[in-house]
Amino acid sequence: MVTLKIPKEIHAVSTILKKNNFEAFVVGGSVRDLLIGRTPTDWDLTTSATPEKIVELFPHTFYENDYGTVGVVNDETEDETLKTVEVTPYRIESGYSDFRRPDKVEWGKTVDVDLARRDFTMNAIAYDVDTKTLVDPFHGEEDIRKKLIRTVGKPDERFSEDALRMLRAIRLSATLGFAIEHDTQKAIEDNKQLLAHISKERIRDEFIKIILSEAPAQALDLAARLGVLKYISPELLKGIGVEQNRAHAYTVWEHLLRSLQHAADKKYPLHVRVSALLHDIAKPHTRKWLNDQWTFYGHEVVGAKIAKSLLNDLKFPKEIVDKVHKLVRWHMFFSDTEEISLSAVRRMVRNVTPELIWDLMDVRAADRIGTGRPKEAPYRLRKYHAMIEEVMRDPISVKQLKVNGGDIMKITSAPAGPHIGFILEILLSEVLEDPKLNTKEYLEDKVRELHALSPEELSQLGREARMRNELEDEKEVEKIKGKHGVK
Ligand code: ATP
Ligand code: MG
Repeated sequence: MVTLKIPKEIHAVSTILKKNNFEAFVVGGSVRDLLIGRTPTDWDLTTSATPEKIVELFPHTFYENDYGTVGVVNDETEDETLKTVEVTPYRIESGYSDFRRPDKVEWGKTVDVDLARRDFTMNAIAYDVDTKTLVDPFHGEEDIRKKLIRTVGKPDERFSEDALRMLRAIRLSATLGFAIEHDTQKAIEDNKQLLAHISKERIRDEFIKIILSEAPAQALDLAARLGVLKYISPELLKGIGVEQNRAHAYTVWEHLLRSLQHAADKKYPLHVRVSALLHDIAKPHTRKWLNDQWTFYGHEVVGAKIAKSLLNDLKFPKEIVDKVHKLVRWHMFFSDTEEISLSAVRRMVRNVTPELIWDLMDVRAADRIGTGRPKEAPYRLRKYHAMIEEVMRDPISVKQLKVNGGDIMKITSAPAGPHIGFILEILLSEVLEDPKLNTKEYLEDKVRELHALSPEELSQLGREARMRNELEDEKEVEKIKGKHGVK
């Protein structure tokens, strides 16, 4: 008996199938994850029922794919992973003439035949939630204990049936921290060229899972060593073995992997991790020997283009492509000057957009760590942060008042002139003292009051107010600096 923690929603689906005299098991990644002690990301059941029967038994279902998988929808749960449960009939697959999907799919009679068509031993374990027993004909539990990824049956055959399995092996090694068993690994080297038959979308999905795993650098390094990387993107290969200058202890490829790994260690989102991986992608294209050293002029410009087309080829969502394009394009900004001016920071925020400026700082940190250099000197980093906040804040200005120059001209029936500016400055000064006064009613009354003053009085009060307002604005900047502890 093995007690695995099965949510009641999953148990319920199994119970309905069994009450109707079908067999049902939890299977695949969910059983594997439970045996490892991880939380499953999705739930799969396998059953002796045909797709038509499954659809009959549950009120809310849909066909997930052409291979009989039925999505059983549970509207009552808040848990995303339980909202749809994939229920798949026992399947026998055969044919695979295109190296990616079976020519023929039949419904199997026993759970064992279904387990035999699955990719790895750790993914070919079924669990009966009532008897609490495992069906494990390929000794998946033992491989899980050994942390080994091993194909069910002969690896050469299994990889030529569906070449994506090779990338799945590498991805699972990254997400689970497992090694790939020797013969399985050898078969990946021997069959890698079959990955050319796999759709970009399926490759992208595995690539994204690798990037989002805890160990992306190790997985991509393994992909490179096994010759699989080329089928993700040939551009990635070009940095391998490309030496840089003394400041860089690592080759371009090593540096990119280290940058990516730092981004993963920091749990940065996908677009930041991808930017860390791609920021120097054009260094091999732009490398020139000049005055006794390597130069890489313009690599961020060329790199942004290469990153964009690489991600477009892999059918990445436009939103990610656009972000990575900007982050790669502007990643050089902070590294080229020691003393950085406020106007340079302002330009940078405009270029990369305010939405991405903090991500750019994260890419920069990843870049530095990936170079083997220590973290940014804390003072300088705080200074950058303060400067960015300073240029991003809305300066104190008469624009924040609930009345504008046009309103004042209407109220006073006077033409445009310097008195409008003076009135606005006086209003602003009052509102800065007491923000509650920033209402149309109050300010309009106040305008009438000020309009009654002599031009000399108004000009005097207006100039004083402007000085007070400018001081307030400076205080705001000082506040930001104080918060970051910089001058
Ligand atoms: P994840 O943690 O990403 O969900 P998973 O192994 O559960 O990993 P799924 O795509 O959810 O991956 O697939 C569920 C199960 O279906 C797998 O565990 C495996 O048994 C089987 N499977 C998935 N893809 C393949 C494939 N290409 N070839 C053979 N079996 C596969
Ligand atoms: Mg799964």
